[in-house]
Amino acid sequence: MGTVLARKGLRLRNSAEANLTHPDVVAEVHREYLQAGAEVFQTNTFAANLPMLERAGLAGRAAEIQATAVRILHKAIGEAGYVGANLGPTGELLAPLGTLDFNDAVAIYRQQLEAMLPLGVDFILGETFEALEEVEAAVVAARQVAPDLPLAITMSFSLPNGRTSMGVTGRQAAELLMELGVDIMGANCGHPEGLLAAFGEMAEVAGERVLMAQPNAGVPHLKGGETVFDGTPTWSGEITAQLIGMGARIVGGCCGTTPDHIRQVARAAQAAP
Ligand SMILES: [Zn+2]
Repeated sequence: MGTVLARKGLRLRNSAEANLTHPDVVAEVHREYLQAGAEVFQTNTFAANLPMLERAGLAGRAAEIQATAVRILHKAIGEAGYVGANLGPTGELLAPLGTLDFNDAVAIYRQQLEAMLPLGVDFILGETFEALEEVEAAVVAARQVAPDLPLAITMSFSLPNGRTSMGVTGRQAAELLMELGVDIMGANCGHPEGLLAAFGEMAEVAGERVLMAQPNAGVPHLKGGETVFDGTPTWSGEITAQLIGMGARIVGGCCGTTPDHIRQVARAAQAAP
């Protein structure tokens, strides 16, 4: 979503701001992915938690931004796909490394979910987490607000060696996620090599748990002041086939993944045994 909004020329303080300023553009992006073959969608709320909105001076409009995101997605895709309530990192470190108290982190995610879930979602997806404490806060909030709603959590392994920036391995992530009882777990964003390494470790301990993977469209490079990704749509199709072979049952893409990339992801998923 962020990739395509930027390509369409939107310059935002926070990507979720587009829900208020450019709802038709956000809806158009959802529809472009639908036409490319996507079956699972996420609300444009990755950066819509209170601390992230606060940094952009938008905290006062949090509930409006969050609820509008669900409305836009429903309107864009109708009954054509699953609607996921997206949660992203707060951008803060939890205590004792940082200053954000665990209970405050739970309250941040509760606020977001309480604004979104009354509008109707099929599942909750918390993604791009790099710290286990923040994962736990999101899971506690999700289970408090909606104990019966399917919950997916994916972590971001930013380092090529398969660790998050906080040093978490795929095995450590999977063990915690199993213990927390999430329904779907996996990896998204980060470095594609890191994602593959961590995903492999997760698959070893996942048992019957559903695995999900959304790699970036390759590795980011700076080109003329803009971030570009070196993975072509064909490359996205190939890594999708590889991830399905490793056990992924829900596949997609993160940063840099355009509708053209998703078309190849969908093709790889359809071709899978
Ligand atoms: Zn990403």
